[in-house]
Amino acid sequence: MTITITTTVPFLDLAAQQAEVADEVLSGWRAQLQSASFVGGPEVAAFESEYAEYIGARHVVGVSNGTDALELAYRAIGIQAGDEIIMPANTFIATAEAASRVGAVPVFVDVDDEHLLIDPDAVAAAITSRTRAITPVHLFGQTAPMAQITALARRHGLIVVEDAAQAQGASGAAGRAGTLGRVAATSFYPGKNLGAAGDAGAVMTDDTGIASIVRNLAGHGSSVKYVHDNIGFNARLDAVQATVLRAKLRRLDSWNAARRTAAARYAELLSGVEGVRLPAPRPGNVDVWHLYVVRVDDRDDVMARMGAAGIGVGIHYPTPVHLTDAYAGLGGRRGQFPVAEAAADRILSLPMFPHLTQRQQELVAEALQRAVSSGTSTA
Ligand SMILES: *Cc1c(COP(=O)(O)O)cnc(C)c1O
Repeated sequence: MTITITTTVPFLDLAAQQAEVADEVLSGWRAQLQSASFVGGPEVAAFESEYAEYIGARHVVGVSNGTDALELAYRAIGIQAGDEIIMPANTFIATAEAASRVGAVPVFVDVDDEHLLIDPDAVAAAITSRTRAITPVHLFGQTAPMAQITALARRHGLIVVEDAAQAQGASGAAGRAGTLGRVAATSFYPGKNLGAAGDAGAVMTDDTGIASIVRNLAGHGSSVKYVHDNIGFNARLDAVQATVLRAKLRRLDSWNAARRTAAARYAELLSGVEGVRLPAPRPGNVDVWHLYVVRVDDRDDVMARMGAAGIGVGIHYPTPVHLTDAYAGLGGRRGQFPVAEAAADRILSLPMFPHLTQRQQELVAEALQRAVSSGTSTA
């Protein structure tokens, strides 16, 4: 009989993060129970101005989640049914869903093989007379090539709407994610770098007009109580979430720095491991490593071996959006976006969170080395 010692490294462990903020959050929530100010109110306003100052935007409007944030951004810039919005094929499906919800057509394009970010040449090739906007996604924690995207948008009269859901605190040469387009949307889903205790999101912009339309639409198309100038919806941020977000925002820079340390450590532990392609930030980017995504052959086998070794891993995302059943109606076919499709078959997200320890990372690296080498020896 063999004795197996299973050491588990979770893919994501938020318990230590919650413990750091627990006292502040609980005292804030207790005060809210007393004041009974649950939707909007001073706590939400305080978070909005603190986050605006943090990223360097004039306006932040807290909303219900990241998908609603994107939809509100599209509505606020006047996207109409039939308008085309160019976006990368490898993103979380919400980027496309928000476009579809306003009646627009998501036009997918391929990504660059090095960073898996939207490819500006592919964007240029996809522009038609119906194109109204480009939505670069700051995937895995680093900003998309905004200088080229901005230049293209200017040349063709298009609006840049950033999907900054995976990049809280990240920056490119021109500033922080969320300030690099006309308007930006982000998500504070619990697993994001800045996460709430439930669903939450925000729209960011320097444009006062856009900000006030977003606020109006998110609150039943009303800016003055019971005066409704638009058919809006209910997409407001709750005070209980704002309290969590305020406490975590104070720690975001140090948590992102811890992720950068962990990424550097993975690079060291995995350098020279044959069969593992490591991620790298684009020059000029400060990456906040929302995800640490390597590429391996025989990914599904490697993933199964990692699971058996007690290491939590993920795939972001297994199916490029153009190949999902949901978007089959747009006629996407295999072979259309070779880089995104090849990456989808090889990507593997390793455990990554601020409180990941050196020992945990060593276990991940050892397991990965074993998983890829047992693949080649049995092939
Ligand atoms: C999480 C995410 C969203 C959607 O955010 P929700 O808050 O879950 O609605 C949109 N885009 C990207 C790239 C995301 O990672």
